[in-house]
Amino acid sequence: MREVVVVGGGPAGTKTAALLAKDHDVLLLEEHSTFGRPAQCTGLITERVLESTGVRPEILNKFTGARFHFPDGNVIELSTNETKAVLIDRTELDTLMAEKAKDAGAELMTSVRYEGHSITDGHVSIMTNSGSYDSRAIIGADGHSSKVAMSFCDNPPREYVRGIQYDIRKESDVLDMIDLYFGNDVAPGFFAWSIPFNGFTRVGLCTSWDKGLPNDYLKTLLRKNGMDSCEVVRKYSGKIPLGGRRRTYSDNLLLVGDAAGQVKPISGGGLYPGLIAAEHAAQTVHEALKNDDLSSRFLSIYEKRWRKDLGKSLDRAYRIRKMYVKMDDDDFNRFVSHLRDERIMDIMRSADIDDPGVAVKRMMKHPAIMIRMLPTVLRSIV
Ligand SMILES: Cc1cc2nc3c(=O)[nH]c(=O)nc-3n(C[C@H](O)[C@H](O)[C@H](O)COP(=O)(O)OP(=O)(O)OC[C@H]3O[C@@H](n4cnc5c(N)ncnc54)[C@H](O)[C@@H]3O)c2cc1C
Repeated sequence: MREVVVVGGGPAGTKTAALLAKDHDVLLLEEHSTFGRPAQCTGLITERVLESTGVRPEILNKFTGARFHFPDGNVIELSTNETKAVLIDRTELDTLMAEKAKDAGAELMTSVRYEGHSITDGHVSIMTNSGSYDSRAIIGADGHSSKVAMSFCDNPPREYVRGIQYDIRKESDVLDMIDLYFGNDVAPGFFAWSIPFNGFTRVGLCTSWDKGLPNDYLKTLLRKNGMDSCEVVRKYSGKIPLGGRRRTYSDNLLLVGDAAGQVKPISGGGLYPGLIAAEHAAQTVHEALKNDDLSSRFLSIYEKRWRKDLGKSLDRAYRIRKMYVKMDDDDFNRFVSHLRDERIMDIMRSADIDDPGVAVKRMMKHPAIMIRMLPTVLRSIV
């Protein structure tokens, strides 16, 4: 019998497996035949997140600022003197992280799909499309639509957004800035992005679930930006769980990453919280195995630990998101005049993209913004 089975070979799963494999017998199951495909990610992360992956994928580009595009055509440019984010390829990242888990001693099995599990006398029996595996603990790192999460309690994420993204053969004239587009005709309930790298542009957007398919919005954005006749070299799509799950542990079981709803609600970025939570998951399961106690009571420490690191920031960001989805195009346009204020620009320049809620909160405390935003804030509460 294994000590741990990790379901899912994305970054959260491979990081947890790599950490645990130093001391334990770990098996990782991935339903696809290779790691990192299909990629469902832009690959825009901070250097801090890159560091925490423990691997060095090629950096496709670095960014020091952003241009914010508003519905009325206004554009605000925000540049800084530091690298705010880097662009990597998710397929490469996931492949390298899987290799690292293997090097650490984990056994990796591909083309094995988790289908369910049962727990008897503290032993987990995991059913897959290619037989069953016994283990003392199971870690659900199986992404946004986690079957492991569905198996133990009915607590879906508060919402999902749908995303679509194309890599387009088009060189951008400005290479160190990303473009972000806001508005209900562009990407209702979220935003759109356009990111240059090595002769290509990665263009994508997400939309709230009830706002129709994101493809239609992407086609419109490409047409508006004169990119509709450019060659599309790669397409991505996926969904993002927002608002978290109420519970991320049970007897012999933990959830980590998207499976646990550990995603930043403002940007949809899941790598930062997922990798932090992976460290707590590995630490907790290690201690549980050492103490021979895999009860839900013991494993509840995991949730306390990751919420201590991330809970406040994710909750704050979700409250901001609730306000954001109520904003109409006039609200977005009104924001522009404030963004021209140097004090607001300074707050934005110093923003940490792993926790953008702090900057938004600071901006909201600015009296002019507070008054302007009051109707929107009230609408979000109602
Ligand atoms: C369009 C888009 C753009 C994004 N851009 C960014 C970004 O720029 N930066 C960022 O930080 N985040 C981004 N995200 C979010 C990010 O992709 C996820 O948060 C991240 O992949 C979560 O990692 P994970 O390991 O938890 O899950 P995943 O990466 O989804 O990995 C889960 C793994 O589990 C496997 N699996 C699923 N079910 C089973 C099963 N039953 N049996 C076995 N294996 C299974 C899957 O094949 C997959 O390999 C984006 C998401 C989308 C949709």
